[in-house]
Amino acid sequence: MLPHFNPQIEDVTVAEIDLAAFHFNVKQLKKKIVKSLFLAVIKTNAYGHGIVPIAKEAIKAGADRLGVTSVNEAVTLRKNGVNHPIQILSAILPSHVKAIVHYRLISSISSEHIAKALSQEGAKQNKTVKVHLKLDTGLHRFGMVPDYIMKLCENCYSLPFLNWEGIYTHFSCADEGDWVTTEKQYRLFLDTVNKLKQNGYFFPLQHVGASTVAIERSDMHKNMVRPGIALFGYQPDERQKKLIDLKPVMTLKTKIVQLHQLPASTKIGYGGTYETKQDEKIAIIPIGHGDGYKRGLSNKGYVLVRGKYAKVVGTISLDQTFINVTNIPNVQEGDEVILIGTQGDNTISARDIAKWIQSNVDEILASIMQRINRIYIYREKEK
Ligand SMILES: *Cc1c(COP(=O)(O)O)cnc(C)c1O
Repeated sequence: MLPHFNPQIEDVTVAEIDLAAFHFNVKQLKKKIVKSLFLAVIKTNAYGHGIVPIAKEAIKAGADRLGVTSVNEAVTLRKNGVNHPIQILSAILPSHVKAIVHYRLISSISSEHIAKALSQEGAKQNKTVKVHLKLDTGLHRFGMVPDYIMKLCENCYSLPFLNWEGIYTHFSCADEGDWVTTEKQYRLFLDTVNKLKQNGYFFPLQHVGASTVAIERSDMHKNMVRPGIALFGYQPDERQKKLIDLKPVMTLKTKIVQLHQLPASTKIGYGGTYETKQDEKIAIIPIGHGDGYKRGLSNKGYVLVRGKYAKVVGTISLDQTFINVTNIPNVQEGDEVILIGTQGDNTISARDIAKWIQSNVDEILASIMQRINRIYIYREKEK
C-alpha cells in the first residue's frame, strides 16, 4: 500500500458564492411577487453559481418551486435530496419521459407525441404526471402557436395519467422594455387561454413572466412568476436598478502567480497582440478562456489589484491571462486579483464585463466553468 498522501492544495482561482446575498435577492423579489407562486429559475447550473446549494437556499428563502431546462439538472437535484417541486422549462425528448415520471418532475408539453409518451409512461409507472402546456406567442423557441394548441388539446387533454396543471408562455422583448410587443404577446396568451377554457380545456396555473415582469409588471404576474437572473443579483436591464435593490452573488477571484518587469516594445502572449509602451510591470493570473473568462476580453477587460484597475493585456490563453500592473504600487506575487466583485473602493460587475465584450450578464456568469471551485459563504450583513 502507498503511504497516505493528502496535501492541502490551494485553489488559486475560485468563485465565491454569497448565499446571504442570494437569500436577500429572493426576499426582495418576494416583496414584488405577492399573490403568485414563486418559481426560482436555476437553470444552467444556477446561472453558473452551482445548482444544488442554490436550490437549497432558494427553498430556505421561500421559493415555491424550482425551474430548470435540462432533465439532467433536475435529476441531479433529486439525487441530492431536493424534494421540492421542479419544473422543466424546455422541450423534452421521448427518451426523457421515464426519468420525468420517476422523479416526479413537472414537464412542459410542446408537442402531441410528448403528451402521449408521458401518458404512456405514467401508465407504466402508475403515476400521474403534472404538465404545463407551452404556448408560443412570438419568441418561436419551443412551444406551440395558438392554432396548434387547440388541436393538441382535442387529441391529448383527456389522455390518462396527465394532470394539466398549467399553461405558460415566455416573452421575447420584455427585457428590452418593448411593451408594445410584450403586451401583444400577453393578449395573445390571454385570448388563447380563454378560447381553450370555452372549449373545456382548463389550466389552473397560468404564467408568463420572468425577472423583468417580476420587477416591472405586477399586472402580468398571473398565478406564478419565474425570475432567474435577478436571483443572482442582476436586474435584466439597468433601467430597473431604481425599482429593486439586488446584491450580486458571485465574486470571481484569483492571485498573481508571476510578475515580469519588461522593457518598452516587448510583445507579450500568443500572437504578440500587446506591445509594452514603456518599461512595464506585467502580472500573470491563472485563469483563462478555458475557465470561461472570455477570450474576447483580450486587450479589453479590467481586473482589480490592490483596489485599483489593471488592464488585461495580450491574448488570453486557456489557463492564463496577463494584466498590466505598471501603475499599481507594491504589487507582489500572491496578491489577490478580483475579476468580478469588489476590492477596496472599486467594483467590477458581470455587467461591466458584458459591456466590454458586447455580451450579457447571463453569458458572463453561466460561462464560468465547473472546474473553478465554488466556495459557499454566508457573508455577514455590512454596517
Ligand atoms: C430563463 C427563463 C426564465 C428566467 O428568465 P430571467 O430573465 O433570467 O429571469 C423564465 N422562464 C423561462 C421559460 C426561461 O427559459
